[in-house]
Order: sequence, then C-alpha cells, then structure tokens
Amino acid sequence: MLHVNENYSRIQASYLFTEIAHRVTAHQSANPDAKVIRLGIGDVTEPLCDAVVKAMHKAVDDEATRDNFHGYGPEQGYAFLREKAAKCDFQDRGVDIAADEIFVSDGAKCDCGNIQELFGHDVKIAVGDPVYPVYVDTNVMAGRTGANDGGRYAGLVYLTCDASNGFVPGPESAEGADIVYLCYPNNPTGAVATKEQLQKWVDWANANKSLILFDAAYEAFIRTPGIPHSIYECEGARTCAIEFRSYSKTAGFTGVRCGYTVVPKGLVAYAKDGSPVELRPMWTRRQTTKFNGASYITQRGAEAIYSPEGQAQTKATIDFYLENGRLMKEALLALGYEVTGGGNSPYLWVNVKGDSWEFFDKLLKKANVVTTPGAGFGRAGEGYIRISSFNSRENVLEAVERLKKVL
Ligand SMILES: *Cc1c(COP(=O)(O)O)cnc(C)c1O
Repeated sequence: MLHVNENYSRIQASYLFTEIAHRVTAHQSANPDAKVIRLGIGDVTEPLCDAVVKAMHKAVDDEATRDNFHGYGPEQGYAFLREKAAKCDFQDRGVDIAADEIFVSDGAKCDCGNIQELFGHDVKIAVGDPVYPVYVDTNVMAGRTGANDGGRYAGLVYLTCDASNGFVPGPESAEGADIVYLCYPNNPTGAVATKEQLQKWVDWANANKSLILFDAAYEAFIRTPGIPHSIYECEGARTCAIEFRSYSKTAGFTGVRCGYTVVPKGLVAYAKDGSPVELRPMWTRRQTTKFNGASYITQRGAEAIYSPEGQAQTKATIDFYLENGRLMKEALLALGYEVTGGGNSPYLWVNVKGDSWEFFDKLLKKANVVTTPGAGFGRAGEGYIRISSFNSRENVLEAVERLKKVL
C-alpha cells in the first residue's frame, strides 16, 4: 500500500493567510466601491534597481553568445558572487567569513527549510513565539514534533517574545534545546537584538554544544549603529552558528530568487559516539546532490547589488520603506498604541489591547485597511497586529488618515 508521510497531517493548515483572504474577499464583495489598502504585505512593492536590471540584461546577452554562454554553474554559487558577499557583507565589517563558507541559493526560505536535514531526528528544536512558520513546519514535516495542541506542537521549545523581554528572549528560556532559530530584525515583531543579547545566545550555544540558525533576511534595514547585521559579529559564533541571508528584502529579489547561507569551516555537530562531524562538507553534499545552483543571470544581478550604484540604489529603496514605517508608527504612537519595530525593520508590531482578529475586522470594515493578526504567528502573537511598510507612499498616507479617523 502506498503510505503517505503522516507527519504532513500534523501540520496546522495555513489558516492565517487563507482566512485573511477570505475575510477581505467577503468585505470587498459586500462593498464593491471600497478602496482596500493592504498593509499586510510581506512582499516588496518597489521594482528592481537600475544597477541590477542593467547587470541582468547584460547577463542575458552573455547567454546569447557561444563565447559567454553559461550552462550549469557551481552548485555553491559563482565565485564572483561569493567573493563579493564575503568581502562586502562580512570582511569589510571586520567579520571573519570567507567566500568558500558561502553557499548561494534561490532564497533563504528554502535554506531555512532544508538545513534541518543535516540533523538527527531526536534533536530538540527551539523557536520564537510568534514565529516565521517555515522554521516550525519544516521540522513538523521531518517528524520532529508531536501533535499540535492549541497552536503549539509537542516536542518543540517555544521562546515567548513579548513586552516583558522586549520581544528578544534570552537563552535561559531554551533549556535543553540543541538547535535554536533566531531571526533579527524579526519577522513578525520587527524587534532587533543588541550585540550583548546575541552574545549571550552564542555563549550559551558554545557552552551547550547547541547550534544557532540565524535568519538575517532583514539585516539591510538596520540603521541603528551597533546593532549586529550578522551573528558572526559576536565572539565565538563561528563555532555555533549558521546564517541565512536573502536578497529578497535587501534588493527586491522576491521574484528573482537569490540568497545565501553561511556555514563556517570547523562548525560541527556530533555523531552518536560523540565524535564531531563538520557541517560545511555535509551542506556541500546536500546542495550538490539536491540543488543545481541559482541561475547565472540571477547571480549577475545579485553581484550588482554590491557595486557603488547598487549599494546606493538599494539603500534608497530601503530608506523609502523605512520612511513608510516611520509615518505609520508616528501616527499609531500619537493614537496611544504601543508599537515595536520600524526604524530597523519593515514591520510594525502593534499592541491592540484586545483580540487580534477583532481588531483586524474593525480596521477592515471601518477603514478598508488590511493588516495581519498577530495570533496567526503563534500564541504569543495574540493581542497584536503586524503592519508592513512594503507599500506605495500614497497608500501609506491614505492609510494613516483612515487609521486616525477610525481609532
Ligand atoms: C522574507 C523572509 C525570508 C526570505 O525568503 P526568500 O526565500 O529569500 O525570499 C527569510 N526569512 C524571513 C523571516 C522572511 O520574512
């Protein structure tokens, strides 16, 4: 008999975005003239910058000639991109990461999801609550959890992120975990972690032979000096952390697809007999077996982000999103709401002093504004909504006016 992977039946249906779509459609059909503004978007809205577009056009022309044609590339990514990433994202910031520790991919979501293949079935996993669902669901699919009870899976360690810890839990809450997923600047809360806070995690991981999986997808939004852009800014992180980077939010690559993962030399997990096993060769093996590289055209586009023009243009776009967030945060603070995030992140995490979904409905029905109910990201997200800065200025200004009227 053909049996399915029963672990899939444990995954909680992706209720959040389906339910949002359902409620928005119902509202829109009851009010056909309503101009709905979507502040729930987790996708960029601004087009690719000129430097990237030019580089990709040129790469297409390369592919059109016999001499410059590129077929299958290296599974780990082209050296031209790995070297730029190592230099600009790490070495120029005084961080010790080499090009051969960088693995280019088609985005951070896949890498965040695939990395768990390297680890035993019995490892104990810790995640934030609220959380980016990929970390959880990929471990559910792999069979590392029990049943879901009231929104939490048996077998997972949940690190509550709330106002009491400034939305940055410390390692004292991760007792017994072998792997912890950390994401800063955070999706959904927009919170950032200080160097001291991350250093505590690194020290804990090294002391416990645990591993940090650090998702830095939003590092380009950091503007406050001193906030780490990389976990490797902490002393000792090379021996306890893997880092995920993405060009999606950095340079509008959500549709182009490119990112990379850093697996430092010397980083190990352990065999049953306690002997250390290096993870970098394992990830190399995994990628060369199951992945055939991001496209040449895409990688040439990503390379252009590191040119002086690319740096200036991508920074201007992120500044634009940050200004959207500032405008909305200012309005919400003036209305008396507690707001986390913004400033160093595209997301605002708003304490609505009540039920997430009720507040969502109120904004939808009275202001024609769509947000994301925090409860959809985990139990500790109840009482909050997430507002995204990925939008046009026109929509943001209009949304601010409507919020002022309704709230
Ligand atoms: C958007 C996002 C990513 C990036 O995913 P890609 O696959 O690179 O587009 C990764 N992690 C988080 C938390 C995100 O929000």
